[in-house]
Formats: sequence, structure tokens, C-alpha cells
Amino acid sequence: MLLDIEHEGQIGRGEASMVPYMGESFETANDFLRKLDLSWVKCPIDFEEVLSYLDRVASGNPAIKAAVDIALHDLEGKLTRQPCSIRFNSLQANMPLSSVTIGIDKPEVIIRKVKEAEFAKVLKVKLGSEDDKRIIKVIRSVTDKPLYVDANQGWGDRIMASEMVFWLEEQGVVFVEQPMKKDDLKGNAWVTERSPIPILADEAVQRFEDIERVKDAYHGINVKLMKSAGMYEAHRMILRARELNLQVLIGCMSETSIATLAGISLAPLCDWADLDGPFLTSNNPFAMPCFEDGKWILPAGPGLGLQELLVDY
Ligand code: MG
Repeated sequence: MLLDIEHEGQIGRGEASMVPYMGESFETANDFLRKLDLSWVKCPIDFEEVLSYLDRVASGNPAIKAAVDIALHDLEGKLTRQPCSIRFNSLQANMPLSSVTIGIDKPEVIIRKVKEAEFAKVLKVKLGSEDDKRIIKVIRSVTDKPLYVDANQGWGDRIMASEMVFWLEEQGVVFVEQPMKKDDLKGNAWVTERSPIPILADEAVQRFEDIERVKDAYHGINVKLMKSAGMYEAHRMILRARELNLQVLIGCMSETSIATLAGISLAPLCDWADLDGPFLTSNNPFAMPCFEDGKWILPAGPGLGLQELLVDY
């Protein structure tokens, strides 16, 4: 769902990617937008005040709040003629590689997807089923690229989860995301304590306030704009994680160039990036941001640096 906010002749563009497990839908997003009055927002925008207003309007709704926050960041960047990356002190020199996700599928489909992702220097693999070792072996039959693994809360037994992590490390896996259920703090902590590679929280961390609760159970967190209610809080989460010596992955949902560019502007502050939304989205109405040598390029244009609209929406 795309959102435009117009002010002083400029248009800020935002986007919400609603995922069912967060309880959001097109209907809940529209209900939320109907309650908003943003006429008080002035440039320079006080993003802390904006977010506290959005949270007062209704709890939850992180993706549609992210759409408002992203559109206002784009708008302010356009009004002040500055790229969003400047606001966050993000430098291209610190841009991490970005992975492309390979979903759970039949071996021939996995092999085709790995070949299609040839432009990526690192792949992310969704695991969490009975077939995990077979899937990794299929991928290893066609590529020796580093792999990120997302177990998606799929491992129910901590001993089995820990053995899988050791086996995956031998297979060239860099980190494992959310090995066990998000509420199983002790199980995840047990796996983390023994793991030779970083274990990251995804579903277990949504917003800033969640970090303290999980900080001892994982080596790091997966920050996503659609969970954090946008760029302002994602930035705070990254800084707080750093203070706590937690590592940071910046991830995404199914997103067009808009939310991806918002993530790109924060990615240099993170250890890893998994911003593959536009590669997996068939109806992106915008030009693809620039991707070279496995990394996104920070755009020079103001705001998000969104390129031309290719298709009307
Ligand atoms: Mg995940």
C-alpha cells in the first residue's frame, strides 16, 4: 500500500507492507489513516513527536505508521534538498552486502532461484522444516556463496536446533535468524550460548521496547521498518543495539523501491542487509534502486532518492 503526503508543492512517498502475523490488513491501514490529522506537522519535522502522535492515535499498526514516517522522511529530504542518508550519517563505504532470499521449494525450483540470484553475493535461505539439510545440500550443489539462514521459529527442540546451527556453520552459514519460537526466550538463549555463529531475533523483536527483553537471548536483532513503525524508530533501535553490543541485520517485508530505499539509507549502520523486496516484488511501480557488486548504492537525490514512476498506481 503506497502513501503520498503533499506539503508546500512537494510529495513525500511512503509505503506499508502489511503482513498477516502483525495483525494488519488493507482495511486496518485505511481505518488508521482515517483517524489521522497531520496538518500540525511542520518542517523541520520532529519525528519523535510524529511517532508519539501516531502511537497515541492507536496502538499496533506498525506498517501503516511506517508508511507515514517514511513519507515524511522523504518529504523533509525533498524540502531541504538532502538525502535521508545524511540525517542518519550513513556512508556508502560502510554499506554491507545485501542478500537475496531463496524460499523453501522443490530442488529444481531452488536450483533455478539460486541461478537467477547470480547478481547477489550472499543468499538467504528459509529453513525450519524437516527438509533443512536437504535444502542446504541442494544449494551447495550449485553455489559456494555465503548463506544467511532464517529458521522462522521452526525448530522446536533446543538440542536439535543447536546441532543444526553447528552443522550449518560447517556449510558456510554466516548467521541464523529466529531458531525457535519467539516466546521461547530460554530455548533461544540456550542455542545462542552454544552457537559458533550469531543467532538473531526477528519475530521476537518488533519495536524499540522489545530490545531489553531479548538482549541476553540473542547475539543480535533483525530490524525491519514495517515492525519498527518506520525509519525514526529503526534508527533508535540500531543505536540502542550497538550500545548493548548486539549485532544488527536490516531486513524487509515484500516491498517496492520506496521502503527499500528507506532501508538502504539505514543499512550502512548495520552489520548485514537483507533488502531484497524489489527483487521479489512483481508489481514495483518504481525504477529499481542501484545495486552493484552485491550492495545497494545510496542514492544522491533528495529524500529517499526515489527514481521515476514507471507505472501509475
Ligand atoms: Mg525472519
